Amino acid sequence: MTKYVYDFSEGNKDMKDLLGGKGANLAEMTNMGLPVPPGFTITTEACLTFLANGGAAPPEMLGEAGEHLGHLQETMGRNLGDPDDPLLVSVRSGAKFSMPGMMDTVLNLGLNDESVNGLAKQTGGDMRFANDAYRRFIQMFGKIVMDVPSDAFEHALDEAKERKGPGTQDTDLDVDDLSALIDRFRAIYQQHTGEAFPQDPKDQLRLAIDAVFSSWNGRRAVDYRRQNKISDDLGTAVNIQAMVFGNRGDDSGTGVAFTRDPATGEKVPYGDYLSNAQGEDVVAGIRNTLRIAELEQLDPAAYTELRTSMDTLEGHFRDMCDIEFTIEKRKFWLLQTRVGKRTAFAEWVMAFDMLNESLIPADEALMRVDANRLEELFKRRVDEEACAEQGIEPIARGLNASPGAASGKVVFSADEAQEWAGRGEAVILVRRETTPDDYHGMIASQGILTSAGGTNSHAAVVARGEGIPAVCGADAIKLDFAAKVFSADGTRVAEGEVITIDGFTGKVFVGEPPVKESELEEARQGDAAARERKIWKAFEALMARADTVRRMRVRANADTPDQATNARERGAEGIGLCRTEHMFLGSERVEAVQQMIFAETESEEQAAYDVLLPLQREDFVGIFRAMSGLPVTVRLLDPPLHEFLPDQVGLAVEVALGEERGEDVSEQKRVLQKVNELHEANPMLGLRGVRLGIVKPGLYAMQVRAICEAAARVKKNGLDPRVEIMIPLVATAPELSQMLDELQPVAADVLQREGIEIEHLEWGTMVELPRAAVTAAEIAQTAEFFSFGTNDLTQTAFGFSRDDIGKFVGMYEERKLVPANPFVTVDIPGVGRLMSFAAAEGKAANPSLHLGICGEHGGDPASVVFCHRIGLDYVSCSPFRVETARLAAGQAAVGESESASK
Ligand code: PEP
Ligand code: MG
Repeated sequence: MTKYVYDFSEGNKDMKDLLGGKGANLAEMTNMGLPVPPGFTITTEACLTFLANGGAAPPEMLGEAGEHLGHLQETMGRNLGDPDDPLLVSVRSGAKFSMPGMMDTVLNLGLNDESVNGLAKQTGGDMRFANDAYRRFIQMFGKIVMDVPSDAFEHALDEAKERKGPGTQDTDLDVDDLSALIDRFRAIYQQHTGEAFPQDPKDQLRLAIDAVFSSWNGRRAVDYRRQNKISDDLGTAVNIQAMVFGNRGDDSGTGVAFTRDPATGEKVPYGDYLSNAQGEDVVAGIRNTLRIAELEQLDPAAYTELRTSMDTLEGHFRDMCDIEFTIEKRKFWLLQTRVGKRTAFAEWVMAFDMLNESLIPADEALMRVDANRLEELFKRRVDEEACAEQGIEPIARGLNASPGAASGKVVFSADEAQEWAGRGEAVILVRRETTPDDYHGMIASQGILTSAGGTNSHAAVVARGEGIPAVCGADAIKLDFAAKVFSADGTRVAEGEVITIDGFTGKVFVGEPPVKESELEEARQGDAAARERKIWKAFEALMARADTVRRMRVRANADTPDQATNARERGAEGIGLCRTEHMFLGSERVEAVQQMIFAETESEEQAAYDVLLPLQREDFVGIFRAMSGLPVTVRLLDPPLHEFLPDQVGLAVEVALGEERGEDVSEQKRVLQKVNELHEANPMLGLRGVRLGIVKPGLYAMQVRAICEAAARVKKNGLDPRVEIMIPLVATAPELSQMLDELQPVAADVLQREGIEIEHLEWGTMVELPRAAVTAAEIAQTAEFFSFGTNDLTQTAFGFSRDDIGKFVGMYEERKLVPANPFVTVDIPGVGRLMSFAAAEGKAANPSLHLGICGEHGGDPASVVFCHRIGLDYVSCSPFRVETARLAAGQAAVGESESASK
């Protein structure tokens, strides 16, 4: 029989699939002997069954939960809802992966009109406390379980505070105020649900469990999963735990703490503490919190217990943990722990420190950093010095919640953020505080600014996780949502005006102040002071490890000497794709290209090549110099020729207007006629790539000559050019062999004439058409290398136009019609299968064949791991992603050896 319910003492940290992250870690902590209030977990499997049955819990689960509740009641010596001495429980969601605030939680369950008096008795007659707990429960239960609009309760609470006088806080409401508020809340509940507030605690529990299960499919949870690529099929567990109270006076409180600073990574405890409060108050940022270190003065014994627990947890999990704790009447309780979320910056610092502390070995440190977030580390910040010089002052300052400078137009709601961003606008979402309902707008924004909330507020947690710059709790900002403006320091900013936030310093600026590169970027560029910082040392150490363990080489796609130099500085080990088409642009060149296109005789065509050849040769000389000693793959011209002629429609209009005005338009007409001749319905499938080389043989011959002359020149200068010539868009083996028959003698001729030998001169092709992939064995007979052009291969495998996919790929991803955007991450079952087939067949036919990838996927970490798996020799990507690819290639190698040793 399926077991649906586990006592905390029955689980462990490896049971996250079944017990969710929270449940598994509560079990682990219980078994470690840490002070955890007792409780039990209902499994994710129960949730999935509940959802599959249209919202009906499996009957066995109800029975089992009843038994576990009985056991909990025995342990606690109290019964749920007992009028005299009630047990109260919390009911919390907890999926396998942490989804902060995205699903539901109910606290104080078990209170009713009678047990509220029992709670008062338990607490030495503290009726104020009992009433406060009861009103919180009605409010939470109403909102979460029965969908009563939260504003209705908030409004009634505000009214109660106002009646007491200005400046009243929730803690100032006395026992009678709270009693009246309970009546008011019950009335609100009845008004919205048509039923009286449930008095039977068993009913309360059943409804709460159902609500937590259902929240798995709530909008914010679904949005969060989509963004974070979490499967919809996991379900959430439900944790039912005896309540402990942080709101029992000034000797009680609640806090969240990280064992290391999640923003900087430094080994200092970090977090917030709020005395006389319940857990959700800290996360919601409703009152100002204390820094965790201040707890030492307030309650030294509890602080010591917190620090000891932190050390125990960090040693046990061998990672930074985040902890939720409560102090009830000076007794310390741990309510939750998990491996804490952290900024990309902190991730590197922590992995490096933990390696040096011998907490983790080198390969584990390497696996701890996320290749997808590496680019974040190179983010910019506002240039403080330049601002000081120019007298630029911030208009407000808040907490540095998530690093990076971001500029954009101000919007005041999540929906607007999403809408404006959808139109291609950069926006900054400005809110008082964010709630999980704002998630869709937060992830569409360049940055997030809130006027309330702390470093652990929802906005801060989400922004850090997503790598979006954020400034929180900038309380100088006065918001007027109705008028869609905010003001700060005498400045008024309306919707649509540009502001800049700096998530490193917490400053807010109007307009766009000067910004400067990240510390890491500065260090990368050679700044001596920046190279002394820990982040650089961490970066160097872990990248060195990646470079040591990786099998695949990393090259860059670079078309100019500058790009080649940049790529080399970032660790590129060659050029995997030099697209030669840009070398055909620029006024002097376009003229010659057009002359080539219009040539009617061979000599006219040759005259055009004579102009182009020296220009191309100079380009190649620069690139071979910059990449001396490393391979450079030059791809011969790929795009259709009409791209080098004026636009057809524009030209037709010019001719028509000119004729109407009686002007001489014979030249325009000549060009138009050629444009019309070259016009293709589907140029992407037309006369491009190798077909161009076949139709215009002089063109590729000219390019090969320019390449070889350049290589000869560079070699004569004592450098080491390594040349790979690549023929694009090959579909059949004869296309390639005929091309090589024509071109190899041209190369031999040049080198002989120059008296130069190039040791590394290889000829190969791109595999970017399904037919080429399928006939790879044949093509490999003449090719020395294959480079997977996954942009075109994806386009042709799916029949998706790569230029137009934007119109529907979002919907495709949402509806799960594709596993991910196939132009970003290799579509493993389809395109990937073609690649792995071609790699294997090609290699079998020609064992010395070498294999690479040069489509955009070459810089996508998941695709890099796939390329490693199918045995490619290198990946090639844009220069700024070279570090990401190096890291991902290292992680692929470690991941492979880890799974082999399992
Ligand atoms: C490709 O198709 O993947 C490729 C690298 O070539 P291009 O993007 O220039 O078509
Ligand atoms: Mg291509």
